[in-house]
Amino acid sequence: PEVTRLIAAGEVISRPLDVVRELVDNALDAKATRIEVELEGGGLSVVRVRDNGVGIPEADVPLAPRRHATSKLADVNAIDTLGFRGEALWSMAWAGELTLVTRPAAQLGAIELKARGDDVEVTRVKAAAGTAVTVRDLFAALPARLRTQVPPATEVREVTTLLGRYALHHPELHWKLVADGEVKLQHAPSDARGAVASVFGALTANRVLSVDAELVRGVLSRPELTRPRRDRMLLAVNGRPVAFPQVLEKAVIAGYGELLPSGQAPLCVLDLRLRPSDVNPNVHPAKAEVALANVPDLAAQLTEAVRAALMASPL
Ligand code: ADP
Ligand code: MG
Repeated sequence: PEVTRLIAAGEVISRPLDVVRELVDNALDAKATRIEVELEGGGLSVVRVRDNGVGIPEADVPLAPRRHATSKLADVNAIDTLGFRGEALWSMAWAGELTLVTRPAAQLGAIELKARGDDVEVTRVKAAAGTAVTVRDLFAALPARLRTQVPPATEVREVTTLLGRYALHHPELHWKLVADGEVKLQHAPSDARGAVASVFGALTANRVLSVDAELVRGVLSRPELTRPRRDRMLLAVNGRPVAFPQVLEKAVIAGYGELLPSGQAPLCVLDLRLRPSDVNPNVHPAKAEVALANVPDLAAQLTEAVRAALMASPL
C-alpha cells in the first residue's frame, strides 16, 4: 500500500513545477495579494511558497494533508476555485517532506505542520498571517522519478515562465520568484500592461493595447509585434491559466485580419470571463486543459473583441 500511495502521489506531482502550480493555486484560492516562490536546486531540494491569504484555522490544519480533504468543493458542476480535489498537499507529503506554517489573521498563534507520508506532527509557532508551504527533498524516496527530472536550470526556466503567466493573469497582485538566491521575477501590483513590462520588458509593454469586452479582458500586441510562433498567446479562464485551445487561438488571429502577415502570431494575454458552469477544469490532472461549453460561439465573440480593440486604438 505504501508503494501504491507513492505512485498515486507521483501522478499529481511529477516535477517541482507541479508543486509550484498547486501551491500557487492554493494561495490564489486563499485570496492572497502577495505570493512569493523560492526554489533551491531547481526545486528538488526546496520549493517554498509563501502567501498572505486567509490561512488555515488551527483545528483544520491536521486535515490539510489528508487525501481528498478539501475545504472547497461546493458544487462539482460549478467549480470556482483552482483546487477541488484535496490531493495536492497529500501528494507532496508522500513525494517529499512537507512543512506548512499557517495563521489566519484573527488567530493569535500560528500552527506548524510537518508531514511525511501519513506521519503528521503539529506544533504551535509564531508567524505572520497567511501560509508558507515548503516541500523538501522531492522524490528522495522515488529514485526512478528522480532520474527522469530535467536539469535544475531548465526547471527554473519553466517555473519562471509559469510564474510569469500567473503575474500576467493576476497583475493586481505582488509576485516574486527567487531561485538559489537570485531574483528571477518580481512584479508589484499594476495593470495588465504593467505585468507585460515585468515579464517581457518595457519595450514590449509599449506595444500592447487593452481589450475590455464583457467576455474577455486583457492585452493584445499591436500588429507589428508578431512572431512566427504562438508561444506568446496566453489564455486564462476565470483567472486560471490554461492551454490556449487551438480554435480560440485561430479566432484571435482572425481578429487581426489583414493586419497580421500569414503564419505570424501576436502576443496576447487574455482572460475569458465565463460562468463556472460553462467550464470543466476536470479533463486533465495537471489542469492545463479545460473543456468549454459552446466553443464556436466563444470563437466568434473573441474574433469580434480583438477586431474592436484594434479598431479602437490609434495604430
Ligand atoms: P484542494 O486545493 O484541492 O482543496 P490541497 O491539497 O491543495 O487541496 O489543499 C487542501 C486544503 O488545505 C485546502 O482545501 C485548503 O482548505 C487548505 N489550504 C491549502 N493551502 C492553503 C493556503 N495557502 N491557504 C489557505 N488554505 C490552504
Ligand atoms: Mg489545491
